[in-house]
Amino acid sequence: MLGEFNLIDEIKKRFPTPDGVTGIGDDCAILPQHSDRETLVSTDMLMEGVHFLMDDVSPYDLGWKSAAVNVSDIAGMGGRPEGCFLSFALPKTLNDNWLLQFIDGFKALCDRFACPLLGGDTTSSLDRLCISVTVLGSSVKQLPGQAWTPGSARRRSDARSGDLICVTGNLGDSAAGLKAVLDSAGNSSASNCPSSSAAAILRERHYRPIPQVEAGLVLSATPEVHAMMDISDGIGSDLRHILKASEVSAEVDVNSIPLSKELIQFCSEQSTDDCDPLTFALDGGEDYQLLFTATPAAVEALKAKGLRFYVIGRITGACSACQLTWLNTDRDFHGFTHF
Ligand code: ADP
Ligand code: MG
Repeated sequence: MLGEFNLIDEIKKRFPTPDGVTGIGDDCAILPQHSDRETLVSTDMLMEGVHFLMDDVSPYDLGWKSAAVNVSDIAGMGGRPEGCFLSFALPKTLNDNWLLQFIDGFKALCDRFACPLLGGDTTSSLDRLCISVTVLGSSVKQLPGQAWTPGSARRRSDARSGDLICVTGNLGDSAAGLKAVLDSAGNSSASNCPSSSAAAILRERHYRPIPQVEAGLVLSATPEVHAMMDISDGIGSDLRHILKASEVSAEVDVNSIPLSKELIQFCSEQSTDDCDPLTFALDGGEDYQLLFTATPAAVEALKAKGLRFYVIGRITGACSACQLTWLNTDRDFHGFTHF
């Protein structure tokens, strides 16, 4: 066993601290202040048995995903990741190889988004693995009296009547990928599901989500992009957060929901009828695409900038009841909830 301090040393070796920053090794990390920027902070916990099953996920993928879901929260505000903190409670049954592979996956995501690991905490757990990641980001300081300073953080509460509702990519792949994982682990009644190339791609999307940082930066740089968030619980749930925070109602056309060809193929291959692409897309979580609202003029400007996104609905009016209407279906969708 590496033990606590050797493990921290191994982590420290792998995460050199950027110039001007004090990272792993002291009581606190020290980051420089920028007078023209604001700090964004988010934290997320991943609990064995709740968010992942040890037998179903590789340590590398779990490391990647632990970092990705946090960096995605910075992307959801249109910010730039600046650094992160990794705390874990480790059961004694985990071997060193597992831990180092976890760190490799975590580092691969951090390197891709220039989000250095600056500290954390390491402790033991009697039973299960618990991972907590905190991420720091930055955005341009909002100018007083101005509605949308370019580069400023976009909140859930700023959707306006007449806005179009958009998403940056396909929905449902991650939820279908999770079903493929559980089916092949024999945890489902549909254990006769074929394991196809589509299922393999969906599994990869479940375990290696890609935070939409670049898209978020383009969106926050565009005036009249109003409300924004990342999609972690499915838009049946996440869009309702925007509606509630903004006190508006919306309609979404289920025929405009972007679905990948792999999702369509996967669902058509299933022998049971509990595999509906729209259910995965609207009720399933963990796609980590961005959900945003913007004026029709801003949507045109974003198309001209070459950003890839899909218009799925519109904000219909101010309304304290925040009603969500699904067009072209008689079903209702509520996303994923933990409790
Ligand atoms: P303290 O007792 O002062 O809190 P620790 O021994 O917990 O210090 O941590 C020593 C240093 O190692 C700190 O800089 C801390 O941020 C860092 N650290 C501890 N665990 C981790 C981890 N899992 N990942 C990254 N850095 C860590
Ligand atoms: Mg500590």
